[in-house]
Amino acid sequence: MAVNLLSTTGMSFALRRRLIVLLATAVALVAGLAPVGYAIYLAYKTTVVNAEDNLRSIAQDIATDTSQLLNNINQGLIALTDLTYKCSAKDVSAMNTMSYDIPGISEIGLISPDRELVCTGWGPIKPPLKPELPPPQAGFRLLGPLEIRLMKRYGLIAMRQREDGSEIVALIHPSVLIGHMGADLGEHGFAVLLRREDTHLYAWEGNVPEMEMVASEAEAGDGSTQLRALFRDGVERTLFAVEVDGFPGIYSVVAAADEWILHDWQRMAVLLGGIGAGTSALLVFLIVGILQRRLSLQGELERSLHKDEFEINYQPVIELGSGRCVGAEALICWCQPGGKRVRPDLFIPLAEDTGLIEPMTVWLMQKLRTEIGQLLQDDRALHIAINLSPGHFESDRILQSSSSIFGNSGILPEQIIYEITERGLIDDADGKAKDIMRRLQSRKSGIALDDFGTGYSSLSYVETFPLDYLKIDKRFVDTVGVDALNTGMLVTIIDMARRLGLRTIAEGVETARQADYLLSRGVDYAQGWYFSRAMPAAEFIEFVHTTNRNLKQ
Ligand code: C2E
Ligand code: CA
Ligand code: CA
Repeated sequence: MAVNLLSTTGMSFALRRRLIVLLATAVALVAGLAPVGYAIYLAYKTTVVNAEDNLRSIAQDIATDTSQLLNNINQGLIALTDLTYKCSAKDVSAMNTMSYDIPGISEIGLISPDRELVCTGWGPIKPPLKPELPPPQAGFRLLGPLEIRLMKRYGLIAMRQREDGSEIVALIHPSVLIGHMGADLGEHGFAVLLRREDTHLYAWEGNVPEMEMVASEAEAGDGSTQLRALFRDGVERTLFAVEVDGFPGIYSVVAAADEWILHDWQRMAVLLGGIGAGTSALLVFLIVGILQRRLSLQGELERSLHKDEFEINYQPVIELGSGRCVGAEALICWCQPGGKRVRPDLFIPLAEDTGLIEPMTVWLMQKLRTEIGQLLQDDRALHIAINLSPGHFESDRILQSSSSIFGNSGILPEQIIYEITERGLIDDADGKAKDIMRRLQSRKSGIALDDFGTGYSSLSYVETFPLDYLKIDKRFVDTVGVDALNTGMLVTIIDMARRLGLRTIAEGVETARQADYLLSRGVDYAQGWYFSRAMPAAEFIEFVHTTNRNLKQ
């Protein structure tokens, strides 16, 4: 009979398995990628901060150098205020000296109040030239870059007006300014010196786009303004603008596109991303591999239960004094298609972990009701022992399922012995296990403590539980005749059981010597290969009949 697994496990196995694998994959991915993602993020932050610092300091350097240069030139022009229109040898010499003394000045000239160039370091200009110049303006100003045809030179022009309206002009070699901007700012990067009011460029380096911006966002910082701007060429750039000290309205502006700012980071991100992907893949591979193996066993177990691929083997329990078979322990057995048998030690722990043990026990109780129900009705002295797992003592379900299965089966509750292992007793702080044991006992079912001595609980602890039988583990039985020291332990257990009023069942009895010894020590029952291996129902029924019939004769 198939058991409805879904009632206890809630979700179909296939679905659960997919969910678990999916979750595990997600966890592995996160575990592998999260640290790398964070490292990439940190690297991004550092890269951006460093690049911005770099840009800012280039803009500042250009502004500082320009300020110094223009200051020197201004001072030089002020020092030349006594130049005469005669353009005497003295005047010419003063002009030439100044050109030599001040780096950046390549030529000096004098423009009369009539706006005529009358004198240069080359001597008087005859006839005077009338260059195209903007209207005069007080103080210092900067023009250009423009071509001075007379000098066949190209450059910036610094001008200073004198009180009589004349102007002293200095030609500044462009390389002096532009040469400062040697930084490589990438394909879309540039450095410029500009007049803010009309974005007129005095000097530039790099691929300077049209200066008009489509959109921009500015943020004023310490002595500089940071901008994020989209230019007409469609490229978004980060810019730093620093005003040239002493020359209001003249700015040094440095810009770079993201590709330059993030260049190092992109390489690092690719490297780190690779490491992260590798780690994640390895983790996914490991975790999913382990899960698949475990889940495949779990799935197989669940499917097998559906397909009724389990069997019960009954191991006879013999009353040592009389040699009577008083019943059996029901042992579950997994017989896979193809005849492969899987030992319970291999799948019971998994069934316990996954909760599958509950439907499995339900299956076992239903199956044994069908298989040996009649035998138990025919002989009320027979008992059947059912193994329960620690999980069975955490809820009332075992009480419900056993009464619904055995309720009208003809099998009496007093014919059933529930075996609980020592593991099931540990951690019973809330007394739930004790409560369930008592309620089973109140129906007159027996409770046996299985595998006693294999755990670590003390005798005094065990004493507090409501027990009827104590099963003496095979390891103690094995000491009979071979290990006098540990046989002492066997004796202690037997004595303790007697003191507590528990009947004893020795397990794993393989020799007549062991059986005799146990009988001599007053052990009540025994099971083991000496008497019989566990066997299918039909054989067990036969075994009971022959064994007990022979006794009666
Ligand atoms: P257990 O309850 O201690 O069962 C006794 C085990 O000893 C059985 O192993 C049995 O075949 C084996 N055995 C019996 N006589 C001898 C003997 O003379 N010599 C040797 N060497 N072994 C003997 P099995 O069938 O492999 O079961 C192993 C364990 O699996 C059981 O130990 C029990 O803890 C668990 N188990 C079996 N069926 C169920 C079940 O339906 N429910 C639960 N929860 N556990 C079960
Ligand atoms: Ca047992
Ligand atoms: Ca045992």
